[in-house]
Amino acid sequence: MKLYPIFASLSQRAVLVVGGGAVAERKVAALLEAQAQVTVNAGMLTPQLQRWARQGRIAHRPDPFQESWLERVWLVVAATSDREMNVLVATLAELRRIFVNVVDDAALSSFHVPAVIDRAPLTIAISSGGEAPMLARLLRERLETLLDHSLGGLAALMARLRERIRIRLPDLAARRGFYESLLAGPVAALLRQGRPDQAQAVAEHALSTTPMTKAGSVVLVGAGPGDPGLLTLRALRALNEADVILHDRLVGAGVLALARRDAERVEVGKQAGRHHTTQDGIHALLLEHARAGRRVVRLKGGDPFVFGRGGEELKFLRANDIPYEVVPGITAAVACAAYAGVPLTHRDHAQSVRFVTAHCQASRDTLDWAALAQERQTLAVYMGVDALGTLQARLLGHGRARTTPFALIENGSRADQRVVVGVLGNLTERAAAHAVRSPALLILGEVAALAPSLAWFGAPPLGASLHELRVGTPAVPKTSGLAAGDGLLEAIHRLAC
Ligand code: SAH
Repeated sequence: MKLYPIFASLSQRAVLVVGGGAVAERKVAALLEAQAQVTVNAGMLTPQLQRWARQGRIAHRPDPFQESWLERVWLVVAATSDREMNVLVATLAELRRIFVNVVDDAALSSFHVPAVIDRAPLTIAISSGGEAPMLARLLRERLETLLDHSLGGLAALMARLRERIRIRLPDLAARRGFYESLLAGPVAALLRQGRPDQAQAVAEHALSTTPMTKAGSVVLVGAGPGDPGLLTLRALRALNEADVILHDRLVGAGVLALARRDAERVEVGKQAGRHHTTQDGIHALLLEHARAGRRVVRLKGGDPFVFGRGGEELKFLRANDIPYEVVPGITAAVACAAYAGVPLTHRDHAQSVRFVTAHCQASRDTLDWAALAQERQTLAVYMGVDALGTLQARLLGHGRARTTPFALIENGSRADQRVVVGVLGNLTERAAAHAVRSPALLILGEVAALAPSLAWFGAPPLGASLHELRVGTPAVPKTSGLAAGDGLLEAIHRLAC
């Protein structure tokens, strides 16, 4: 059945809903949003419908359905569980040429209620003509993720400027170009940034300048640790809108595959000791593309503000008057901890967590080793694997116990993730024995003892003896007479063996 789509204006118009259950409640909620005057006919109402009735937001008719009620209504919804009743309502409505929707019965309905993405005043409705409602729902969910909530604000702004745009740009192609620039350029960006007044000012300015310049912009996006599922919705949208993507080497193919197909992809990766593009080179590329009016995504592994030099890039963009936005990403420490089953803090064993970088000799020399060696804290160390020896020596030298557990996570969150566990005393040996390679993140601290028992992703941790990995073994044994902490210490001692 092919349907003719319409959007009905129901404000102050009477609508009858027959039925007072959960389904009726959902229909009534949507009708109330459209400011319809809703009458609900049902012996029993859900608590929410009762509340609306008490508040006077709906009229309630508990008596049996009467045909005469149809005389004053514009639409009818039959949402009872009694099929005969639904057929009766549908038939009587049909006779009066009143549109009727019978819930879950496409054949009896003369109007269908679509799946809706609400970005008021913008509404997107999807219908499968009753044939595949689940598909419509799935598509709705996809579109929900793709369309930023600020689109509603953009539609409202376009409505405010519509007349001026029409007068200023009588030519249809020019007008279309202008709308396109509103959708893709700084105006939409400012709305996403929660700055509607500036957005309007920029739009008005663009409207008064001739010829209109195409403004480029940069979005600094955190790509997360590798698993594309850990991208944020904002990151996904930025990737969908990008003309150019300048990405680090660490950003995986799975993430890049989600970007707009015809976006230009440029790897500007840096590797410890092996610089592909210098930071100045990256700045020059950002400037070149943004000045050419392109939407640039600067895509970085993890979070751009955690050991990512995001601050330097923003400073450069600000100095050059290039508009920018920042989309945070899940940083390696947070992702690796989650994917290795290591809580970074623990009520009893680690009250703080430090994100530390030991990437180059210089950074290792300036670290406050005495502070890092303190007990009952977790260190999340971003580092090249060659830093492990220094790290071990310095921490031991400053008094951190040899028995402090660690989990070393290589390729965290990716299909080839490996976790190596042990204690500070055997850190370098274990890493060498398992040939751990970059990118790897070290989690050092009492909490790392939980890795063998809480691991859930990928292969079980290497370096933990088999009896620690028995499925179902609680991380902190609930042996009576033992405090929870004793279990953890026991696990630490086992790791030390
Ligand atoms: N901005 C990034 C960090 C860049 S520094 C972030 O927020 O995650 C690069 C270091 O991050 C690597 O040397 C490694 O220590 C760590 N790292 C990044 N991704 C990783 C991953 N998937 N698994 C393990 N470590 C990772």
